[in-house]
Amino acid sequence: MFDFMDMDFADSSALPTSTGPYIPDASECMRCGMCVSSCPTFRLLAVDEETPRRRIRTINKLLIEDQAISADEQQHLLNCLQCRACETVCPSRMAYGQLFDQALLALKRTPTRLAKWGLWLITYKKWRRRLMPVLAIYLRSGLRKPLQRSGLLRKWALAEAEALLTPPALSSLAAYYPGKNTNRGQVALFTGCIAEHFDRETLQASIRVLNAMGYEVLVPPQQVCCGAIHQHNGLPAETMMAKNMAVFNALSVEAVLYTATGCGAMLADYQSDDNQQSAHFKQRLQDINDFVLKHWPQQLNLRPLKEKAAVHEPCSQRNVLKNTTTVYALLAKIPDLQITSLADNSICCGAGGSYMLSHPDNAAKLLSMKKQVIAAAEADILVSSNFGCTTFMHTDTQKLLHPMCLLDRQL
Ligand code: SF4
Ligand code: SF4
Repeated sequence: MFDFMDMDFADSSALPTSTGPYIPDASECMRCGMCVSSCPTFRLLAVDEETPRRRIRTINKLLIEDQAISADEQQHLLNCLQCRACETVCPSRMAYGQLFDQALLALKRTPTRLAKWGLWLITYKKWRRRLMPVLAIYLRSGLRKPLQRSGLLRKWALAEAEALLTPPALSSLAAYYPGKNTNRGQVALFTGCIAEHFDRETLQASIRVLNAMGYEVLVPPQQVCCGAIHQHNGLPAETMMAKNMAVFNALSVEAVLYTATGCGAMLADYQSDDNQQSAHFKQRLQDINDFVLKHWPQQLNLRPLKEKAAVHEPCSQRNVLKNTTTVYALLAKIPDLQITSLADNSICCGAGGSYMLSHPDNAAKLLSMKKQVIAAAEADILVSSNFGCTTFMHTDTQKLLHPMCLLDRQL
């Protein structure tokens, strides 16, 4: 555990150089091991290779020492969920997320043909929209069960993605939704890529809540995917960042709101050569939960609900955006609602962006652990602010809702 004691601090090759790639605080990893037990892959596989500490060593090897890494090291590195739980407990405040992103870029991996196709669909709205009616017909056709049983989906490596499918929304959202009664101002809504089709309920509920609060909502149709999936797969996301910043910065709105914390974590990290552009974008960017809580009108009352809600805290919300209190405060606006948190909120559910598709076995094990905790909470409703997690955690016993959906139901 205390192998930092063996480190040779006189060895300058272990430290970032002024000419080499800059790794924030990389040299500050003391190898103390404080991060080990917080890491979901270590909990799952219980070997040192599956700890943040070992991954940081591999990253150092790649980026600082400019050494080749073995196939095994690469495998253990890529088993990381990018949940960033390790960052929250590290006494040296290692910027693990940034280190990992840089390592992925350095690996220059070529995505599989299937991954390329998926990323292409996420990137190009026009083609995504053309695919949706085909998916809707497939889901209604009666072909699904026989195809699932045939084994072909598994052979084509589509089984996991197919299992997550729900009927998609086919129409586009309107570009403008007027406020009700009073006019308190305008806000813009970031809708994401596939959430536009598969999480329409949350987006529409969010619009209704904002309208009921007196806000006009703009949904700029030119917006694109936030780029998180691309970045987490070691691909550049600059084009998407530039497009979204240009689209939202051109609007005269009070705030730019996101509903999925996975997207929010990426949007909050947008960079640009033009500092003013990214600063202006980030200045108005807010989690919809924060905005609604802060601007909730005193006269707007919610109907009581005699049920129990358990709050799942997505890693992006907890470890990256570091916002663990707002959802509870927001739900407390519903009279009679009993609110509790899930016992193991610090451990990832396994969704991890596209991890549920790229590492289905690990993801399934983490999900099964999460489902035990969900069952133990004995709640009627499970609340989560990240679309990726809700899609993956789907249970037959609880309603799984975004906080906005719950507020909307009680309006
Ligand atoms: S990453 Fe942080 S917590 Fe983990 S071993 Fe290094 S210094 Fe310790
Ligand atoms: S990001 Fe999560 S999975 Fe990856 S090393 Fe850190 S704690 Fe482990």
